[in-house]
Amino acid sequence: MKMPAGTDQTLRPFLWRAAKLYSDTEVVSRNHDGLQRYTYSEYDDRTAQLANALDEYGIEEGDRVGTFCWNHSRHFETYFAVPSMGAQLHTINPLLPDAHIQYIVDNADDQLIFVDQSLAPKLAGAVADADDEFDDVDFVVMGSEESDDLESTAYESFIDEHSTDYDWPDVSEEQPAGMCYTSGTTGNPKGVEYTQQMLWSHTMASQTPQGIPMADDDVVMPVVPMFHVNAWGMPFTATAGGAKQVFPGPSPDPEDLAGLIENEGVTISAGVPTVWLGLMEYCSENQVDLSTLETVIVGGSAAPKSMIEWFDDQGVEVLHAWGMTELAPIGSVSHLKADLKDADYDTQVDKRSKQGLMVPGLEFKVIDENDEEIAWDGEEFGELWIRGPWVTKEYFKRPDANESDFEDGWLKTGDVVTVDEHGYIKIVDREKDVIKSGGEWISSVELENAIMAHDDVSEAAVVGVPHERWQERPVAFVVPTADADREALVDEVSELLADEYPKWWLPDEVEFIKEVPKTATGKFSKKDIREEYADQSLV
Ligand code: ADP
Repeated sequence: MKMPAGTDQTLRPFLWRAAKLYSDTEVVSRNHDGLQRYTYSEYDDRTAQLANALDEYGIEEGDRVGTFCWNHSRHFETYFAVPSMGAQLHTINPLLPDAHIQYIVDNADDQLIFVDQSLAPKLAGAVADADDEFDDVDFVVMGSEESDDLESTAYESFIDEHSTDYDWPDVSEEQPAGMCYTSGTTGNPKGVEYTQQMLWSHTMASQTPQGIPMADDDVVMPVVPMFHVNAWGMPFTATAGGAKQVFPGPSPDPEDLAGLIENEGVTISAGVPTVWLGLMEYCSENQVDLSTLETVIVGGSAAPKSMIEWFDDQGVEVLHAWGMTELAPIGSVSHLKADLKDADYDTQVDKRSKQGLMVPGLEFKVIDENDEEIAWDGEEFGELWIRGPWVTKEYFKRPDANESDFEDGWLKTGDVVTVDEHGYIKIVDREKDVIKSGGEWISSVELENAIMAHDDVSEAAVVGVPHERWQERPVAFVVPTADADREALVDEVSELLADEYPKWWLPDEVEFIKEVPKTATGKFSKKDIREEYADQSLV
């Protein structure tokens, strides 16, 4: 049956409803030029102005518009304006190495990029070094001023003068609305496209009691960056619920977060464990009123039990969530099942510290080395496969990865998990050869190849070592050649890497070893290195 126009599963009705029912509810933002606040009604108007400006610029249905921004209200304006015009919003991670940024802008074929004033020098660096990746790209700088670093237009003058009415088209639910690249595997980052329907269904599943629901009496503050899978979809979920939204702006520190929680009455926030460790430390040294805070969503890396217990002591519930870029991103949330409500506290924390229960709408299975499904006993383990309405079915222009990472509609996640008798998933290992530090990926293979380019190195393996604050940090294990000058080599390796990669990618240590352990097929066995150096925990 052909559905009448306007009945597809798209994002626009979420904002339509918020602007009508919650016209006075606030959107607060720590922008580069200070704290700003306006209402959903004004937000809706500015979204229309932006759409008119993009129309005039020449953005058409299916075109890609990039952002290179932190979490703030102007970035949020692109979230509804671009997809609701039928175009596609590509949020670019500004923390990536320049070569990755060049690759993804080229691969996505972005036409226009919105960039923060503070990030313009970083983007300008990637543009200056580029071949032709940025040849047809224009820049709009978020704020009232242009950038000294890039030839650009200022956002406020870009949208100024445009009408606050826009004739939103009937967009198909098949239309790609968003896009995000994941570096969570080796090789070039892989693009994931989010159709209108994927973002709609992800929003609706988030709004279920076993998702991360947000209502009109909530004050929602996503600390997880908006360039990271749409801040885990929170701006869409919060709009759907008519919640007040608080955007913490460029690189917020614990003091900024504490201030926003206290002054704006934040009830729900979300971020990677590193963020919450910072806040916990700050609270132990300062008087902070967390009384409005009800829920903290922790994901991206495993939430330590001590974090769950600390927040419990403050009367704040930690919802531990697991997700992936490929899932827009939420997959499972560690809610306590009804039949565990009477269990002792340790059992409850044990369950809540697992990656959780699959949210309604998704299916999963866990496949072991013999291609068999594992038993749900909390012991057997295998790779997690997942499918559902908001799980991508393919990577953008990557037939190689599509061949290896998907099977019969299932996404092979690369996460190795157990499932207990209650259905709680627990990540026990990762097949992906990457390191996750403070919620961001570092490619161990890229670092290894760069190190092995040095004449005095015969082999090198880079491994993620547990770290209290960053969850993991890279350590390089290097086999020097027989006549290498070992002392000079450490500095030379560090310099070599510093030329090409951001500071946070650089290994915390360079260790010399005799030989890199190998698997039966001759590949570097990271597992063996990790086990051998397990006591090397960095703090
Ligand atoms: P995200 O924005 O959720 O970090 P990515 O696609 O960058 O998305 O990373 C997804 C991967 O991060 C997962 O496949 C898994 O390896 C890891 N991950 C995500 N959430 C958790 C978690 N709660 N505990 C442990 N690992 C996690």
